[in-house]
Amino acid sequence: MRHSGFTDQLGWSGVMETPQRERREAGRMSRRFNQSQRAALFLAAEGLCMRCGAELQRGWHGDHVTPYSKGGRTDVVNGEALCPECNLSER
Ligand SMILES: [Zn+2]
Repeated sequence: MRHSGFTDQLGWSGVMETPQRERREAGRMSRRFNQSQRAALFLAAEGLCMRCGAELQRGWHGDHVTPYSKGGRTDVVNGEALCPECNLSER
């Protein structure tokens, strides 16, 4: 017997929405790193903030090395994983 409770529906809608959103963002360059890019950045940083070395917590920031506003691409080669403190502090 399969449950179709409210929480199950929420879970499904979450699963269904993510790929659609990523596909849309792939068309025009997004300012935000998507899930797979974030995963790559996290691995490249070995789970540590690339600036201060603090252990990255949930909600860490994907930052552009060359700022998006200056033509930096939203790409893993132009990305770095930072803790919120480092990302929000002026470089
Ligand atoms: Zn940091």
